[in-house]
Parts: sequence; structure tokens; C-alpha cells
Amino acid sequence: MSSTPRIVLLPGDGIGPEIVAAARRLLDALGEFEFEELLMGGCSIDAHGVALTDAVLAACRESDAVLLGAVGGPKWDTTDPDAPRPEQGLLGLRKGMGLYANLRPVRPSPALVGASPLREERIAGTDLLVVRELTGGIYFGDSGRDGDSAHDTCEYSVAEIERIARAGFGAAQRRAAGGGRSARVTSVDKANVLETSRLWREVVGRVAGEYPEVELDHLLVDNAAMQLVSRPAEFDVILTENLFGDILSDESAMLTGSLGMLPSASLGEAGAPGLFEPVHGSAPDIAGRGIANPLATFLSTAMMLRHGFGRADEAERIEAAVDAVLERGLRTPDLLGGTVAPAPTPENPSPESEVGTTEMTDAVLAEVQLDLP
Ligand code: NAD
Repeated sequence: MSSTPRIVLLPGDGIGPEIVAAARRLLDALGEFEFEELLMGGCSIDAHGVALTDAVLAACRESDAVLLGAVGGPKWDTTDPDAPRPEQGLLGLRKGMGLYANLRPVRPSPALVGASPLREERIAGTDLLVVRELTGGIYFGDSGRDGDSAHDTCEYSVAEIERIARAGFGAAQRRAAGGGRSARVTSVDKANVLETSRLWREVVGRVAGEYPEVELDHLLVDNAAMQLVSRPAEFDVILTENLFGDILSDESAMLTGSLGMLPSASLGEAGAPGLFEPVHGSAPDIAGRGIANPLATFLSTAMMLRHGFGRADEAERIEAAVDAVLERGLRTPDLLGGTVAPAPTPENPSPESEVGTTEMTDAVLAEVQLDLP
């Protein structure tokens, strides 16, 4: 990586440009970065007729990291199978950048535990990471119809399992190093039924030998789905294949109850650029109103610093700043869940107060800069 990290920004559609502009301000406050802002998604369809041009893909592959807002919106919704669609850009990026590991951390901010559909005492202390294999398994195996039957084939090779297992163990190691906790990987499969799962368990167990300081346990996927809602705080890293990961990462996302707070990273081979993006979509219903919640994008930026650039200190500084502004009661409207912010009282002089994207960004910037040397 060059001394000044080169970041491709793909704001995309809807609220994407608003939240990516906010993240750019945050990065500018933290240090020196080189930015290249390019079109992807619906905006690229309008300009070039395709969601992802070869030139944009090439720029992403040559960068040190890609930060994406969100793509899509009613303007590009179509039932015409031949018309270009914004999400083709996302799939093209994943494939073209060789991104096989999807990382979704779930760490409800202490000030927001009340927003979870789970009882506060169950969710308190939850800080887990779902590591999902992204390019293999049943979504990519042979599928077809034969008369009145249909099939989808699940296939995994040893090499595919090894590389995602290393991504999982590596992430557990980094989390432990940053947070003073012990590292644990829970590998999720269905080894009592599926042959691919038996291979998965065997290979993950072997790769675990390369990481003696990381504890490994195995859970069957049905049990994992139950444990996630009954004792989420006891998980560290959940490592799983594509289909199980798709379902479990959405289940874990719901634990926080706040879509505007969830970051994600998709990573490829070591040294190759990763893609960092909020989990939410382009929120066309609120685009251009200045009320988009930028916090999931800030937390995705923290993931970029940690996983993309090895700058864990700055990642933690952003995460702490996000917690601090929420603790002070600042809320974008989505975090108020349709309620009106209460007025201050002597008993509660700083209750929740409603802010827009700019005020929320200003507050996070001020917190981050407080700690700067
Ligand atoms: P969405 O996540 O865009 O919005 C769901 C609800 O959450 C909306 O009410 C929205 O206003 C709110 N919301 C989402 N993010 C918010 C934020 N940061 N701040 C405040 N409120 C926020 O999901 P959707 O409505 O199903 O999809 C809208 C468009 O986004 C569709 O075109 C869809 O295909 C696309 N989409 C894109 C991605 C992506 O780019 N990765 C992911 C999901 C959906």
C-alpha cells in the first residue's frame, strides 16, 4: 500500500452521496487520504448505460480500499430482464474484486440497547462478528429443473474453506488484540446431515491449528439460530458458509433493531482492496432531506481502517465517538423510531435530541478530534 492510502468512493444513489460525503469529512479529520469519487449503481446506468463500467472496476481493483454508500431506487426498478439494474454493480464488484469473505459486526451501542427486539439484559454486552463465505456453496453450484423436480447443488473445495477459515481466525485474532478479550471462533455447519459441512468442519479444525491462541467450537446451524437470540453476548466470531451466513447475518442484524447503525466489509486475498459499506440500502424515501443517519457508514469507515489499513487505533476512536454522541442523546429520526424527542427536564437535562446528518457528523468529528494528538 502507498504511504497515503488511496480510497475509491462510490456514493451511489439515494442517501448514498449524503452519507459518503459525511464519511469523507471524517477521514479528512483523521489524516491524509487520497480520494477518487466514481459512479456506480443507478447513477452509472444514467450516465453510461451500465451499473459498473470496466473503468470503475479497474479503479477499485487498483485502490487500497473502496467505500460504498448504497445503490438502487424506484427510478431503476424494472421487470424487464434485459434492462440494467443497480445491484448488478454490487455483484460485479464482488466478483471483479475477488471478495469472498463478508464481515458483519453486531455491537449494539450501549445507548441503543433499548431499540433491540430482545430484552435489554439479553442483548447487553453483545459484540459479535459474522464471517460469511460469499462466493461458494449452494448459491453458485449447479442448479436446474428436470420435469417436475428441481435441484441446487452445494459444493465447497478444501481451498475455499481454508481461505474463509483463515479470514475468520484472523478477524478473531485482531479483535482480541484490540479489545483485550480472548479470541473464539464458533464454526456453524450442518455436519450431522451434509457432506459439505463434514468437509467444512474437518478443514476448519485443521486451519485452527495455525491459530493456537484462538479457541474453536462448532455449532449446528439450527442450534446457532436459537443461541443467537437466547445468548447473543456469548458469541465472538461466527464463521459459516454462504447460505447459513446469509440467514444468520440478517438474524444478527435484527438484534440491534437499528438498520442505520450496521456496517459491513467484504474482503478478498490478503493485500487486495476490500469493499466497505453500510448494511442498509439507499433509503430513497428520505434522500435529499438531510436526515440520513451516517453512523453505519462511519462504522464501515472504522472497519476500513481496521481491516483494510491495519489502523485499529483510529477505528476504535471512531467507534468510541459514535458511542459518545449516542450517549449524549443525539439521534437522527430513524433512531427515534417515529417518536418525538422529549423536552429537557430538571431530572433529565439532556434527553434524546433529534439531529440531521450534518449535526450528527459535526458531533462525531468533534469527539474524534478531541482525542487527536
Ligand atoms: P433501505 O435500507 O434503503 O430502507 C429501509 C428503511 O430504513 C427506509 O425507511 C429508510 O428510510 C430507512 N433507512 C435505511 N438506512 C437509513 C439511514 N442511514 N438513515 C435513516 N434511515 C435509513 O431498504 P429498502 O427500502 O428495502 O431499499 C431501498 C433501495 O435500496 C432499493 O432500491 C434496494 O434495492 C436498495 N438496497 C441497496 C443496498 C445496497 O446498496 N447495499 C442494500 C439494500 C437495499
